[in-house]
Amino acid sequence: MKQSLLLSLAIVLVWAILGALAAGSRGAAAAGGEAPSAVGGEAREAAPPTENPAEPAAADGELTVTVCVGGTDRRMALNEYLTGVLLAELPGSFHEEAFKAQAVASRTYVLRASEHPKHGAAAVCTDSACCQAWVDPGTVPAADRERAEAAVRATDGMVLRSGGELIEATFFSCSGGRTEAAAAVWGRDLPYLQAVDSPGEEGASHFLDETRVPLTEFCTLLRQEDPKTVFTAGPGGWVGEISYTPGGGVDRIELGGRSFTGKALRKLFGLRSTAFTLELTASEAVFTTRGFGHRVGMSQWGAEAMARGGKGYAEILTHYYRGVSVEPYS
Ligand SMILES: [Zn+2]
Repeated sequence: MKQSLLLSLAIVLVWAILGALAAGSRGAAAAGGEAPSAVGGEAREAAPPTENPAEPAAADGELTVTVCVGGTDRRMALNEYLTGVLLAELPGSFHEEAFKAQAVASRTYVLRASEHPKHGAAAVCTDSACCQAWVDPGTVPAADRERAEAAVRATDGMVLRSGGELIEATFFSCSGGRTEAAAAVWGRDLPYLQAVDSPGEEGASHFLDETRVPLTEFCTLLRQEDPKTVFTAGPGGWVGEISYTPGGGVDRIELGGRSFTGKALRKLFGLRSTAFTLELTASEAVFTTRGFGHRVGMSQWGAEAMARGGKGYAEILTHYYRGVSVEPYS
């Protein structure tokens, strides 16, 4: 009798342990199952905030994005993020249609980045050289903030698509008169990122720039890049054949008998862009560059010129991003 009671107790105990183990493994499976759906499902909800967990959730139906601000992930309403981008990316004097065009490009950029995040849980950072510049809208004068907010509201939910996909809505400050094809810069041909004319940018501070390099330094740096480069006689004979990209950038240039890419020279001499001319004097190499940056996608100064010329934001966007549709995000 006593033995059978002990046996019963032992059986109950074994069942209890097995039950607890099973519950534990179910819990682990559930947690593991949630993780991929949180990342792969609604990407704009990619991750909870890692800082300030008491941060209030955005209103129902309002899109949110996770942004890496100074090394800390912050989740914020999409429209608040976009207001901060407009304030950081555009001069306050720009036309409202240029603001709206930037709002749609930046919305497309961040929603696509949410689908392909490159900063861990955060879709984007606030470095203009990497993602999009951003300032906290709460830190700028109310009049400026309201202007940016109005552009975000006026284009609420509008994005750019090509073949049903959100496009890579790259942009830059100034092209110097013509934008560049993505294939010429990144080696990937995208139908909507082709070279197009971008008139009216002359007011931009980097429309034209000059970079002067002492001739000895010019030769030294090129020889470091390619030791077979030879500079004999006068500089008059040093420049050989030059080929150009569809956007008027230097594709390749022959110097001292060797061929260099425009991209390599831009890096080597810290040029504003690959759209340059080169003049060699007795003492200096003088690069004159047009535009600033990679020059692929929408030119902010070109958008401003189009807006001042009476074009609406959709016309501006479809000029710089060929064949795209401007449509509501869903
Ligand atoms: Zn980034």
